[in-house]
Order: sequence, then C-alpha cells, then structure tokens
Amino acid sequence: MKTLASELAYFLRGRARQNLKVLILYGIFLLTMILVYATLFRFLMWHLEGREFSLIAGIYWVITVMTTLGFGDITFQSDPGYVFAAMVTISGVVFLLIILPFGLVSLFLAPWIEQRLRYHPTYELPPQTRGHILIFGIDPITRAFIQKLQARDLLFVVVTADYEQALHLEEQEGFKVVYGAATDARVLTGLRVAAARYVVANLSDPENTNICLTIRSLCQTPIAALVDDPEHAELLRLAGATQVIPLTRILGRYLATRGTTRGALAHILDSFGTLQIAEIPVHGTPFVGQTLKEAQIRQKTGLSVIGLWERGTFTIPSGDSILGEHALVMFAGTRAQLGVLEKLAGEAAEDELIFILGHGRIGCAAATFLDRRPVPYILVDHHESPTCQEHVVVIGDATGRYTLKNAGIDRASGVIVTTNDDSTNIFLTLNSRHLHPHIRIVARANREENVEQLYAAGADFVVSNASVGASILINLLEQKASAFLTEGVAVFRRPLPTALAGKTIEQSRLRPLTGCSIVALEPPGGGETLVSPPPETRLQAGMTLLLIGGPEQEARFDEIYG
Ligand code: AMP
Ligand code: ZN
Repeated sequence: MKTLASELAYFLRGRARQNLKVLILYGIFLLTMILVYATLFRFLMWHLEGREFSLIAGIYWVITVMTTLGFGDITFQSDPGYVFAAMVTISGVVFLLIILPFGLVSLFLAPWIEQRLRYHPTYELPPQTRGHILIFGIDPITRAFIQKLQARDLLFVVVTADYEQALHLEEQEGFKVVYGAATDARVLTGLRVAAARYVVANLSDPENTNICLTIRSLCQTPIAALVDDPEHAELLRLAGATQVIPLTRILGRYLATRGTTRGALAHILDSFGTLQIAEIPVHGTPFVGQTLKEAQIRQKTGLSVIGLWERGTFTIPSGDSILGEHALVMFAGTRAQLGVLEKLAGEAAEDELIFILGHGRIGCAAATFLDRRPVPYILVDHHESPTCQEHVVVIGDATGRYTLKNAGIDRASGVIVTTNDDSTNIFLTLNSRHLHPHIRIVARANREENVEQLYAAGADFVVSNASVGASILINLLEQKASAFLTEGVAVFRRPLPTALAGKTIEQSRLRPLTGCSIVALEPPGGGETLVSPPPETRLQAGMTLLLIGGPEQEARFDEIYG
C-alpha cells in the first residue's frame, strides 16, 4: 500500500505535476467539445429530421461516434447530418484516439518507465561495511549534520522508505542512500547496523521508538534520537536510545536565555566541572558603552570574558572592545563568581517584559524557562496550543496590524520570534525593529539559509534549529570533551604542550598564535581547577588546558603543538 502511494506520489511532483495540469486542461477541453457536439446534435436532429433527444442521449451519441464504436441505434438520415457525424468521428479520432494516448504515453508513462529502468535503489550495504553512520529521516537538521560529516570525510548512509526521496538524494545530492523501511529487521541487518559507528534516529517519536527497539534486538550500536515531545524522552530511553535529544526544549532555552537580561545565572550555557560558561546581554547592565577595560569585570567578579557577540558575529575580545547596547558577553567562571556578576548587573532589569511570538513547542519551552526565573512575558499565537494548558496565550495573527499593539508590545523590553515559518519570522523581526529600535530581538531560523536575512532584518541574535541540532549530534558522535556553546565556538581540553611549560600565560602567546583563549587550568594529579586564570599565571608541566575557540583555532592549536 505504501509503495502504491509512493508511486502515485510520483505524479504529484516536479515535472509530472506540471504535466498533470496539462492533462486536466485537456480533459476540460474534451468535455466542452462533447457538450458542444451534444447540443449541436439535438439542434440538428430537431431542425433537420424533426426528432427530439435528451441531452444524455446527445452525449451518448457523441461518445459512441467519437470513439468510432458507432452502435447505429441513433443515426442521421440527411446529408447535413452525415456531414456533422463525419466531422464528429474525425475529431474523435484526432483528439481522443491519437492525441490523448500519445500525450499520456509521452508525458507520463515513458518518463516513469525510464526512471524505473535507470535508477536501481540500493537495498543493502556490502557485508564488509564498518564504522558508518546511519541516518533515518532527512530534514534541515540532518542535512546540516551531513555537511559536518562530509567536511570530516566520515562515511554516512541515509535510509528512506520513500522511492522518490531515495532517487532525489542519491542522484541530485550525491548521498549514499539505502531504500527500505527503517523498522524492518532485515533492512537493518542489510544496513550492517551491528558494525555501524552511530545511528541517528530523526523520524517521528513512535517511529524512532520502533527503530530503537528493533536495533536493540540486533546489537548495541549507539543511537542518538531526536525527540519532538520531551515527555517521550523516557520512553525512547527505555526502548534503547543511548542519547535522547529534546531539541525543542533546548532551542526554547536558548531563545529564552538570549531574550532576557535578567540574571547571569539564568544564562549558563554549559558547564565543565566547576567551570561554567554563561552569557549575558549588555543591555540593562551598567556596562553599556564601556570598553572591557573600563568595565573591570574581571577585577570585580573574577570572571573572564571569553567572547563577545554582536549581531551574530562572535569575537574573542580585547581590552579595547566596546560593550555595545546589543552585544552579548560570554563569561567563564564559577557559580559564585556568576552570582557576584548577577548582583552587579541584575538590578537594572527589573521592569523586563518579553513577548514570545509563536506558542508552538519551542515557544512553549521558552515560556516554561522564563516561568522559572521568573521573568514576565506575553505569548501570542494564532491558535490554541493542543499540547499546553499551562500558559495564557493572546490569540491572534502576530503579523496582523493591531494584534501586537493591542497586546501591549510598547511595554516590551524584548521579543522572542519563534513561529514555524521563516518568512513570518523575518517579517516580525523587521516590524519589531522598525517600531522599536532599542528592543531586544531574538529570532529562530527554521532553515539555515534564513539566518542572514533574520540578522539583516534587525535580530540581535538568531538561533538556528539546524545548526544547534547538528552541532549537538556531531559532539555526541565525536564524544567530544568539548562543551557546545553555539555554532562555531566550543570549549575543548588539551594537555599542556611541553614547549609552554614554565612560561606564564602572557608569555605563551597562545592567543595571538592560535586564536584560542585559556578559560581554565587543571593542575596535574587532579587538584582543584583554576578557573579563568590571570595572565601572569605560570603554566606547569602536566597541566591540562581548557581552551575556547572555533574549529579553525582548535585545528591551529593542534597544528602548532601537535
Ligand atoms: P512550533 O514549530 O511547534 O514551535 O510551532 C510554531 C507556532 O507558531 C505554531 O503554534 C503556530 O501556530 C505559530 N504561528 C505561526 N505563524 C504565526 C503567526 N503569524 N502569528 C502567530 N503565531 C503563528
Ligand atoms: Zn505552553
């Protein structure tokens, strides 16, 4: 049944869909012709031969004549009648018996047969295949993940039960594809799942559960499952998933974290033992407009500033970097130090009010996160949520002229734009920026290619579903001793290169040479981690460095220090 449906689906896509439109138009043309002939038939019969026929009889007569069946039960008895009947027969032969079958064959049947003959899907992998990554379910997240796999030259295989998709992915995009149902044990055996390095399950929650159970009946290959509804995480774990990724909740937290100015502790992105990595927006703090040197954050709190985001661009700052109104500062330090910062920066943000546009799963997760702070917010969505009964929602189209105004957007200090449609998100971002030049806007990009447009529309920060999802997957796959901060920035661990032993951090010239910064030092023999060490700290043999940097900086470190 599924195969039949996917075969029929062929006619609803691409070129075939266009051709189907031509066929429908042609059908309308034939129908009109039959009706016109039937009317003419009745008129001629009545005026030439004095006989009366119903419209149904007329249609019946036209069809039998056009298809050249000619039963002979209704015939003309006059010359003009014969001429008319001959004309109908000839047009039937031309339009019905020649053009129609020819069109059907050349527009539908021939391309379909040609495709079947040309493309032979792969049903199983060679028995010696090992170390491959199996991907079930293609969407922007797994596509972004695939890009990362390609950059690392890792072998991956996409599995799909959709013939058209298999054809497209293999022929247009050049992926290795296996065609088959993910939950069929024979298919999984053919995928050499026992020898695979990792499985990524990115279908619906029930399908992912089924995949996990089937794989667990065969082998112990690690499985990362993306879960739509965080409530299903436990079930997936029971079914055998090694890692369950509640992406909607993670994305909601990211949006909320970046949308509010209140509290540095609310903004912890990741932790590394005692080392916490946190981020606060400069807006609403006493640091607005100051340089990093003037702000004296390290002196006052002990935290080190490890990064600066300004409209989506991440830099590792110097003392002269200015803390702009719309910037986000990334810190490394202990919880206690973050607490000090919170006291220092938190007071200015008392009158905060956040608008969340879109109360889908991600918007709901963001609201839940703000509830915990607590930060006041207003949710807007054009539907009641079928899954959430906890939140009060203003019902209305956020793009409507008065919806946001009536809901009180003038009082808002920040907006979280999180609908499932990127054009809507771009529109809402542009509109909010236009009306409120100083409001804080955090937007979600459902598709990677819209990140730039959202920044161009005026977002202070864009969270891309695809790159967050893909980065989480790649970190799991590589079992990285690195905390994922955001696209292109990570904290990673390295033993102290022998060449640097005995030097101070300043003398090591690590930052100018590699672009990485030291965020913490772990002493030899597992003593207490020295978080955000000052530049005059002396590096000792046997220490472990915790560094922050992008993939290029990480590669440069490895290149220089081997
Ligand atoms: P999700 O992808 O689960 O986060 O859902 C996105 C949410 O955005 C859905 O609940 C949609 O109803 C909502 N949404 C989409 N477009 C609009 C709009 N123009 N105004 C308000 N809400 C919207
Ligand atoms: Zn909710």
